Amino acid sequence: DPQLNQNYTFDNFIEGDCNRLARSAGFAVASKPGGTSFNPLMIYGGVGLGKTHLAQAIGNEVKRHMPDKLVIYVSCEKFCQQFVDSLKNNTINDFVNFYQAMDVIIMDDVHNFAGKDKTQDIFFHIFNHLHQSGKQIILTSDKAPKDLAGLEERLLSRFKWGLSADMQVPDLETRMAILKKKMYADGIELPYEVVEYVANNIDNNVRELEGAMVSLLAQATLNKKEIDLNLAKSMLKNFIKNSHKEISIDYIQKLVCEYFEVPVEMVKSKTRKREIVQARQISMYLAKNHTKTSLKSIGAYFGGRDHSTVIYACQTVEDLIDTDKKFKAYVQDIQKKLKMS
Ligand code: ADP
Ligand code: MG
Repeated sequence: DPQLNQNYTFDNFIEGDCNRLARSAGFAVASKPGGTSFNPLMIYGGVGLGKTHLAQAIGNEVKRHMPDKLVIYVSCEKFCQQFVDSLKNNTINDFVNFYQAMDVIIMDDVHNFAGKDKTQDIFFHIFNHLHQSGKQIILTSDKAPKDLAGLEERLLSRFKWGLSADMQVPDLETRMAILKKKMYADGIELPYEVVEYVANNIDNNVRELEGAMVSLLAQATLNKKEIDLNLAKSMLKNFIKNSHKEISIDYIQKLVCEYFEVPVEMVKSKTRKREIVQARQISMYLAKNHTKTSLKSIGAYFGGRDHSTVIYACQTVEDLIDTDKKFKAYVQDIQKKLKMS
């Protein structure tokens, strides 16, 4: 299965208090796909905490002891894209049949369904079909089902059927273990004080923890240089600084359009269609708040409008945030994506 990444296994997944429930539920599901009450199994938690790793490990484990099972790993984003493509190409039946034929489906980052009502409808049907046939469904998400915004109620209620297990930030001991495992895998040893320094200072996200380790290891290999604590400190500084980059208006536009499934050209056009106006106004609001672009330039960017249009758009968005919970969740969701980039 090309969608499964062989590098993510249970073997190299470090267990800690932070992930114990999710890991053992995952292992149970991998041993008996569709045969436990953990269906769906929903793994949720913040960015870089190991959700994808664990979800992939389940798929790899199933394939290891049941090679005949059809296992598919797909990110929610890719699924949404495939759906749009299949609409365009008139292959919607093939699309649905493909997914309904699976024994195990792993769908990563289902919070990305937010706002995509049509894709949610299709997934709702696929979900029901698989669940009724005793097939295993594994989902990951950045929030617990009860806190997911922009998803249809009937889909959310399905997501709550099985087990939801959260992944927390690993404690120091687990972070040390993850770093040691990484060193061992690469066949390189760093001084204990360096490992401890990294584990102590990068404490919110396993991906960043690993990233820091990878750059230290690369430095050690390429320069055949001993990494002492001072060198590690200076490199780590760079690593942390690099993660703050500026947000562009182009990027805001792209993100908002993807989020609401509307074409970029429409947002810049004169159309007054409700969903387009909404995407345009939110883009303007975000551009005002997250870039240094002037109101005049923002107006010009969105199809040659003047600055009073931008002011009006921002006012409208602020009013809606105050009065419309669903709308507020959309904006927060997009803002979070912006900050993650
Ligand atoms: P998420 O999907 O939650 O954003 P990932 O699964 O992509 O996070 O994990 C980020 C990185 O951290 C991956 O390289 C993964 O292998 C590693 N990682 C996360 N948790 C663990 C763990 N418990 N043991 C080993 N590696 C981990
Ligand atoms: Mg992930």
